[in-house]
Amino acid sequence: MPEISDDTTSDQDIEAGRVLFAQECSYVTSAVDSASLPKPNLPEIAFAGRSNVGKSSLLNALANRKSLARTSAMPGRTRQVNFFDLGGRLGLVDLPGYGYAQAPKQVVQDWTELVKFYLRGRVSLRRAVVLIDARVGPKANDRDALDLLDQAAVPTQLVMTKVDKVKPKDLAALIEKLTPEVAKRAAVLDHMVPVSALKGAGISDLRGRLGTLAGPK
Ligand code: GDP
Repeated sequence: MPEISDDTTSDQDIEAGRVLFAQECSYVTSAVDSASLPKPNLPEIAFAGRSNVGKSSLLNALANRKSLARTSAMPGRTRQVNFFDLGGRLGLVDLPGYGYAQAPKQVVQDWTELVKFYLRGRVSLRRAVVLIDARVGPKANDRDALDLLDQAAVPTQLVMTKVDKVKPKDLAALIEKLTPEVAKRAAVLDHMVPVSALKGAGISDLRGRLGTLAGPK
């Protein structure tokens, strides 16, 4: 049986993460093309996932906010890269959700190019967080995203969302399914974090892990 946690977050990291994520988190800007990307002046963490995976809900849960990132009434609406500043120490970057079938082809191409440009060339990017819906499991476009991050050598953390909706045995099966995906990509970290934005499970653990990447006070 695969383990959810073979790598525990220290109490110290959890406390530091709590303090960090209690800081003001403010919207900086949105980029629609490579020219409108802001200057990289903070260590950044980028969040990626299929449309409707629960990315906005997770960002709001991490930052203790109701409407930092807009939860999508219509899946796939966000087609820009949104930048947030957490306490002047960490940049949180909300990448457009992928895999929305009804988006026009040109639109999909444009933001795929933008995301690729961002992920490959961003000197300040410390980590990508790729969200996988625990009820849905990994799809072809998740594998494409992981390949892209792996090729760009961006340290990548897998986070399983909406775990309140799955039974422990289904979560264990998901981890088993994801394990070879992790093993074959050097840039993907071994540890996968299960979260529920709705119930709060895993949020302080994730804050603790991500908080270690923040810049100095
Ligand atoms: P996004 O498109 O990735 O930004 O996804 P959203 O955050 O807008 O969430 C998509 C849907 O999943 C919404 O209906 C949310 O209420 C729901 N959702 C998000 N997180 C959770 C969670 O932790 N548990 C459950 N049960 N539902 C969630």
